[in-house]
Amino acid sequence: MIAENTPFALVIGAGPAGLMAAEALARGGHSVIVAEAKPSPARKFLMAGKSGLNLTKAEEDEAFRAAFGADAAPLHPILAAFGPDAVQDWARGLGQPLFTGSTGRVFPEVMKASPLLRAWLARLEGMGVRIMRRWRWLGWDGGEVLMKTPDGDRRLTPGACVLACGGASWARLGSDGAWAAHLPGKVAPFQPANMGFAVDWSAHMERHVGRPVKGIALHAGHMASRGEIVLSRAGIEGGGIYEVSRAVREGAALTLDLMPDLTLEEVRRRLARKRGKESIANHLRKALKWTPEKQALLMEFARPLPDDLAPMIKALPVSHKGPLPMDQAISTAGGLRWEALDAALMLKDRPGTFAAGEMLDWEAPTGGYLITACLATGLHAGRNAAAWIKKGHQP
Ligand SMILES: Cc1cc2nc3c(=O)[nH]c(=O)nc-3n(C[C@H](O)[C@H](O)[C@H](O)COP(=O)(O)OP(=O)(O)OC[C@H]3O[C@@H](n4cnc5c(N)ncnc54)[C@H](O)[C@@H]3O)c2cc1C
Repeated sequence: MIAENTPFALVIGAGPAGLMAAEALARGGHSVIVAEAKPSPARKFLMAGKSGLNLTKAEEDEAFRAAFGADAAPLHPILAAFGPDAVQDWARGLGQPLFTGSTGRVFPEVMKASPLLRAWLARLEGMGVRIMRRWRWLGWDGGEVLMKTPDGDRRLTPGACVLACGGASWARLGSDGAWAAHLPGKVAPFQPANMGFAVDWSAHMERHVGRPVKGIALHAGHMASRGEIVLSRAGIEGGGIYEVSRAVREGAALTLDLMPDLTLEEVRRRLARKRGKESIANHLRKALKWTPEKQALLMEFARPLPDDLAPMIKALPVSHKGPLPMDQAISTAGGLRWEALDAALMLKDRPGTFAAGEMLDWEAPTGGYLITACLATGLHAGRNAAAWIKKGHQP
């Protein structure tokens, strides 16, 4: 099946980062094997498409890079070489018409990931890339890559290797973070990113479980978002909270602006309308056109209700019990430290081995930043791995 005596490049992990690295290696003229632990490739990528595959964000380079934070400076040149425009060209090149939403988020018109993935896998197959399923990387023995396969354990000596094993959430889709054990001392601890927060709801919140709260703004430290959250049994989830979750995880207080289009004075003015014998809930519903969920949130977090409700409505403090479990997070912070890598994304102490994707130590909010950075680092690592083999380096 594999002629282990002929030079080949090995990619470990068949998510977007690994597949991009494989393509770059194949374009460089190399024979490529992708080892994937799961029975099929790119399971998380397919899951990402379930709620609309947000491929990238159409915004200026500087704003785009800023989303990754100051600690991700090594990513900047990599994103400059393959940023939002390049991602869109790449997806269109795979036959996917795209559209850009009002916030600049870019999606395939079909929203899901499967047609894009199908076209991509067909192209890779046409280039001779072989994806070996149920092949789990188990570390190294000297210069040999150890692999557990359905046909028994194997030892591989690729001309170059790209690690693209993903982060540490949604383990059932393959990204279990177990690879960290093979890189001792080089991995910053994983933390949840783009996650919800646990709330000990009182009993009267039960009937709102599963309901969205739309048209609100969220503030935490220097971060803000505008959109919707979902009230789950465990707490608060959804895009609005994910966008500010880094600041909340780092200790900033979370507040909700339940009427972001109105000033404090305007809210106060509307509430000053004569209430008569109306219940407070009815008053809020009529004066502010509120849904039951907004009312319930106010009652939950603002009790005992002050006479002047307007400041609470504009900055409702949310008391929570910290992030929901990491395995439920959209992505993870932490991972392979930048200090362990050179500018080519090659492991300094293991020449010829490169790394890409979410397994690197960066984080970004949802909004297309994650997939863009995975594709960009996959391409960068793959091209550099191809150049490494071409230069005639031996394993
Ligand atoms: C519900 C959900 C929605 C999302 N939506 C979006 C979105 O709209 N936009 C966006 O930008 N991002 C989104 N993301 C995040 C995005 O999917 C990930 O950031 C991205 O898939 C990471 O790519 P990757 O290639 O680095 O890793 P992964 O996609 O996690 O792939 C890693 C692969 O490596 C394999 N692997 C791991 N260990 C081994 C091993 N030891 N041996 C062999 N193989 C191994 C895994 O099985 C897996 O297939 C979403 C994530 C989730 C969970």
